[in-house]
Amino acid sequence: MKFCSTCGQSVELTTPAGDHLPRHVCSACGTVHYHNPKVIVGCVPEWEDGRVLMCKRAIEPRLGLWTFPAGFMEMGETSGEGAARETMEETGASVEIGDLFAVINVPYVSQIYMLHRGRMTSARHHPTPESSETVLMHEHEIPWEKIAFPTVYHGLKFFFEDRKRGVKDFHSLDLNFRRKTAQRSDAGLEGLVNDSA
Ligand code: ZN
Repeated sequence: MKFCSTCGQSVELTTPAGDHLPRHVCSACGTVHYHNPKVIVGCVPEWEDGRVLMCKRAIEPRLGLWTFPAGFMEMGETSGEGAARETMEETGASVEIGDLFAVINVPYVSQIYMLHRGRMTSARHHPTPESSETVLMHEHEIPWEKIAFPTVYHGLKFFFEDRKRGVKDFHSLDLNFRRKTAQRSDAGLEGLVNDSA
């Protein structure tokens, strides 16, 4: 950042007394501006016949690739509320949010994914400005080679492995891999689509 969001004066990058990292500090009013990781909430919406709802991305990054509904958590909501909201926004589907089944850290882009199970309350879903297609898929229909983000790939693997075993486990995973081209701020999400869990 260049300017203070409190007073509009310029900020400088400096380590405040007693701190251990450089921060953007306002040269006029002294406000310290902290930048912390972003939380992404998502859900694997499951229909009563066992299929899960997948979306083909109509927006960058990773336009044309597949994901389950997920997006940035908003202020004032829980992870479950955010996952349900993203599901409605991206697919038009209503879900009853279930338990949290995975937390995936992506420290090289300062993101953390919180993934919930979800039960679709009706078969209704449709394309949206964010999704060019929404499709209910059996596990063998998942386009594993065209998954948008490694977090989505691993999340789906956890989900289906648990279901096969008849359990509802909780999984945590740290993705420490960074691809050389991961320079953009949305790079979120670069890398290792074909990495196995
Ligand atoms: Zn200021």
